[in-house]
Amino acid sequence: MGVTARRDTELPDRLAEAGRRVGVALTEALDWIRPAVTAVAEVASRPEVKSVIERAEKMLRRRPCLCFCARTHPGDVGICEPFDAVITRPHNSDLLGDIDVPLCAPCAAARAAREFAG
Ligand SMILES: [Zn+2]
Ligand SMILES: [Zn+2]
Repeated sequence: MGVTARRDTELPDRLAEAGRRVGVALTEALDWIRPAVTAVAEVASRPEVKSVIERAEKMLRRRPCLCFCARTHPGDVGICEPFDAVITRPHNSDLLGDIDVPLCAPCAAARAAREFAG
């Protein structure tokens, strides 16, 4: 058996060994990650966490009231329902000109009352 022949049989063996080691390393890495993934999935499937997520999603679906309460109806600032905009009203902005601003019902009423009062 010459030197060349030995090298020819060694290389595939080494590749196989390297591949096996990479496979083991990957398996070990996955085993190490898995508990964290399982923990996250478990937390996300808990009813109390689910309800928080659902509430957040509901709030994001809603339109926020973009009324500048302190400026447009300073007498009734507390009436605002910040995540319950139901209508849009034209708003004269110095920066953007006339734009449609989503408003909640109490804010729209307060603005109308103030406009009416002059
Ligand atoms: Zn307002
Ligand atoms: Zn409002």
